[in-house]
Amino acid sequence: MSTVAEIFETMEYGPAPESDKEALSWLAKHERVFGHYINGAWTEPGKLFDVVNPATNKTIARVTDGTADDVDAAVKAARAALPAWKALAPHARARHLYALARGVQKHARLLAVLESMDNGKSIRETRDIDVPLVARHFYHHAGWAQLLDTEFEGYEAIGVVGQIIPWNFPLLMLAWKIAPALAGGNTLVLKPAEFTPLTALCFAEIAHEAGIPPGVINIVNGHGETGAAIVNHPEVDKIAFTGSTEVGRIIRKATAGSGKKLSLELGGKSPFIVYDDADLDSVVEGVVDAIWFNQGQVCCAGSRLLVQEGVADKLVAKLRSRMEKLRLGSPLDKAVDMGAIVAPVQLDRIRGLVQQGVNEGATMWQPSWACPTDGCFYPPTLFTDVQPSSTIAQVEIFGPVLVTMTFRTPEESVALANNTPYGLAASVWTESINLALDIAPKLKAGVVWVNSTNLFDAAAGFGGYRESGFGREGGREGMWEYVKRIPPNTSRAAAKASDVHRSSPIADRQSPAATRPSPLPAIDRTPKLFIGGKQARPDQGYTRRILSPSGAVVGEAPEGNRKDIRNAVEAAHAAAGKWARATGHNRGQILYYVAENLAVREQEFAKRIDAMTGCGPRRAKQEVDASISRLFTYAAWADKYDGAVHSVPIRGVAIAMNEPIGVMGIVCPDEFPLLGMISLVAPAIATGNTTVVVPSSPYPLAATDFYSILETSDVPAGVVNIVTGDKDPLAKVLAEHDDLEAIWYFGARDGVKAVELASASNMKRTWATWHDRSWLDLGDGEGREFLRAATHVKNVWVPYGE
Ligand code: NDP
Repeated sequence: MSTVAEIFETMEYGPAPESDKEALSWLAKHERVFGHYINGAWTEPGKLFDVVNPATNKTIARVTDGTADDVDAAVKAARAALPAWKALAPHARARHLYALARGVQKHARLLAVLESMDNGKSIRETRDIDVPLVARHFYHHAGWAQLLDTEFEGYEAIGVVGQIIPWNFPLLMLAWKIAPALAGGNTLVLKPAEFTPLTALCFAEIAHEAGIPPGVINIVNGHGETGAAIVNHPEVDKIAFTGSTEVGRIIRKATAGSGKKLSLELGGKSPFIVYDDADLDSVVEGVVDAIWFNQGQVCCAGSRLLVQEGVADKLVAKLRSRMEKLRLGSPLDKAVDMGAIVAPVQLDRIRGLVQQGVNEGATMWQPSWACPTDGCFYPPTLFTDVQPSSTIAQVEIFGPVLVTMTFRTPEESVALANNTPYGLAASVWTESINLALDIAPKLKAGVVWVNSTNLFDAAAGFGGYRESGFGREGGREGMWEYVKRIPPNTSRAAAKASDVHRSSPIADRQSPAATRPSPLPAIDRTPKLFIGGKQARPDQGYTRRILSPSGAVVGEAPEGNRKDIRNAVEAAHAAAGKWARATGHNRGQILYYVAENLAVREQEFAKRIDAMTGCGPRRAKQEVDASISRLFTYAAWADKYDGAVHSVPIRGVAIAMNEPIGVMGIVCPDEFPLLGMISLVAPAIATGNTTVVVPSSPYPLAATDFYSILETSDVPAGVVNIVTGDKDPLAKVLAEHDDLEAIWYFGARDGVKAVELASASNMKRTWATWHDRSWLDLGDGEGREFLRAATHVKNVWVPYGE
């Protein structure tokens, strides 16, 4: 045995094992066999599957594989518990969440050890990162529960929430899901990943002890089919999922048209960008945290190292020498950096992708030391000579594998960083704050860390763009995922769409102006499509007749098709960068100008609306007046929809920036042909998006008249593109378009379903609803709900100080 003096010389690590005694006795208490936790009680064990410690390949427990009946029982329990939980005073729910936070802290070490045994991650991480963050989430959300009525006035719980989580942060993902759901007044059914169910079961026990009422939290274990049973259960009102993009896409399709609210936190291939003025020693430690934290099984892992050419060789040399010193071994050893990969199947996947990287010509490097052979271990791996289009540069490996590429200019770094279908996170390393804050907004990512990486906190939202999913977890932005707007009091709503446009056209009409015979034949006015700031003839050369309710011809509208949509999307893209960079003041000025020009032509628009819809001159005027007011609303918001600075526990700030989504498709409601369109287009462009608009199918002429207003109001070409025609086929083309980042659809239920299904192709964000809206009502027809739907929140973490 070495003496202290010898150890002082060699600085060798000795063993530093964490005791597993408490965890083993907790497992023994349950005879290592678990049922589900439903309605406040453990169910009898059913068909069991093994839970294996990946560091030893030994079975440590057996857990019940949930059936559709189990899921049904859990959903019924959650439904039964909902009214009482939702009706609790916010303060009472806050106390429950507080009790959960306390419970997690009281059992912190047990949870940390269990997590390491179940998942293979090091005790250093579970003890110092996962479990403290879990407690932090419950404390933070105890706060939102307390403030719910005042901070989310006019909103209420969504109902029963189905939550499906992955194996990489089992307890932390549970906390990210359960804490906001409970704070919002929802009840829930959660399925842990099959590889890692134990801490969720331990948490159920803690919740039970903490006095959470039966049925509020239900934990059902199982495989993918159990998850699918939750997704497809008709009495589930919302699905929150974290996992692979592949399963996210299945869930998007499965919930399409069901009315279930959905948030998806999916995969990533996040860039870690190093500029030549960066502090390279800090960068090396950053890389260790970015890709070897949790063995690289992190959705936001900095798995693509992009280095400015001049410092690439130096950085790679530094990284290799650091990798030689990383320690890999038993997850319960307090002095290891890396533990085990979660399961043999994941190990095989990593091996397969690394081999593919080698086959495709990249240079692979691993440290000289050997991994233990009796568990699922994989060494840290570094690839150089990587082509941006190669498999290892594009596919999420979800293992400790880093690929390196170089760039010359900041512009090139952004292009390379965004060369991925994902958009979850990014790290930017430079000593120039000027450069960092210039680059951060240009990165397509929901989170950007400046000179740091993998920082998480309950106060700051986390979530992605594009194929990384949609929705945020954490912070105020995450709470919006768990509340819904209370429908306005119908008596307050001045008029519902159905009341207005389906009413008799004759009653309050005085002169059906548009159909009145005139002494001279009118000059033919053939509306066209409006694409890229120009009037454009429809590709297929057809128009459709627009008739009044009495059958008179009011005008003709072009019949747009796939090619017209394609051209419109191209035009919207061409305008996107500049419009997104325009100041809020500038966008506001343009919206005011649109309103001004509409006001000048108020009577003309009112006549047109009346002629098409037969709603009567009074209602038509009301619609135009409301449209002008709505334009004012969003002109006002354009420089006021501020982000936030989150209070995260670091020396620095997390800046939550509201960013435009990009190019959006907007499929307008049939009713209120002018107001419906303006209510959607104005918030979209006020926040910096460019749009392809499909106006009301039966009443498109308000939109075609409107483009002449856009032409004269300084709206830049391509910001608003209008394609008239048959709404649902056009909506489908938009939803399938891979270059469109979001689609809003207001129409029939079948249309909603088609749009949600088709949007799964590139996981674009959807806002699709078939419910009637009271467009004239200020609560229902305008406001923050629209602004939120038109923006992403990007959290930029900026630590400071030496
Ligand atoms: P999955 O996406 O398959 O699993 C995530 C969760 O969804 C698990 O609870 C899983 O259950 C469940 N699930 C699986 N199929 C369905 C379904 N049809 N309907 C509802 N729920 C379902 O991830 P994997 O665990 O299979 O990992 C595969 C790959 O996904 C990884 O290699 C990695 O690349 C990526 N991944 C990304 C994560 C992220 O956070 N971005 C997290 C985990 C994985 P069960 O575990 O029982 O199959």
